[in-house]
Amino acid sequence: MADSLNIAINGIAGRMGQQLVAAALARGHSLSGGKEADKSAHIGRTIAELTGQPAATGAVSERLETALAGASVWIDFTVPAATLEALEHIAGRGGIALVIGTTGFSPGEEARIAEAASRLAIVKAGNFSLGVTLLQGLVRRASAALGPEWDIEISETHHRHKKDAPSGTALMLGEAAAEGRGAPLEALRSAPYDGPDAARAPGTIGFSVRRLGGVIGEHEVRFGALQETLSLTHMALDRSVFAHGAIQAAEWVAGRPPGLYSMDDVLGL
Ligand code: NAD
Repeated sequence: MADSLNIAINGIAGRMGQQLVAAALARGHSLSGGKEADKSAHIGRTIAELTGQPAATGAVSERLETALAGASVWIDFTVPAATLEALEHIAGRGGIALVIGTTGFSPGEEARIAEAASRLAIVKAGNFSLGVTLLQGLVRRASAALGPEWDIEISETHHRHKKDAPSGTALMLGEAAAEGRGAPLEALRSAPYDGPDAARAPGTIGFSVRRLGGVIGEHEVRFGALQETLSLTHMALDRSVFAHGAIQAAEWVAGRPPGLYSMDDVLGL
């Protein structure tokens, strides 16, 4: 069992925020507090009241400093603007490690996170599950072995409330496939197939997206040649899988030197 941490959670009233509280308590940690958007109806409530977990300490605040007081790790599953605001505040303060699960950052925002990692220890992943972390390695290997004459198509399905598309996980899988081919994803990413002149360009990586009811997260990477196809699929069956992975990442990153780390680093893959 890892040493007990005092954890701050950004977006604590969200779908992932609530799962993170349960996972942190289940793994023997305490909570310094949680942050929510200024307009949230949950500001001022205790975390115990918010989540129905009597053992939870701390309260929901709109102030970063209040949520952070006494914390050694900040876990962030919010929206890009909220994550970046917290990142810049914490970078100026130091002494706190970050776990970032938010997805949908622009390339410029990704660069700001990479730059902050020269001063902070950050684990960032578009997916904190063991299955998807392994899947990335499998996709990289299959893409390298099969070569550019095989088409690659990445499909994802998520619940109707998801904001960004394609999902952070689909893009991570696309990056793994592109790495297998020795090129950046931007160079290989196909434009969406739509309209009368939408034929597939050879050697590209395509993405397709579905938004459906309450689906937690499904990803499929398909490789296709003229005579055969190969599919690699992952399904998240419960949101708690991401929360437990994120808490595991928090346990691993607390006290580490500055750097931008991945779930491969956390899991030693
Ligand atoms: P959600 O909408 O249920 O929760 C987001 C929360 O952030 C909300 O409660 C919202 O009020 C809060 N928020 C917004 N602005 C804020 C601010 N300025 N300060 C503090 N809180 C603020 O969404 P969710 O399903 O919990 O997902 C959150 C993010 O995590 C999304 O980007 C999603 O794609 C990502 N996600 C990542 C993984 C992973 O494994 N990396 C897994 C699931 C979801």
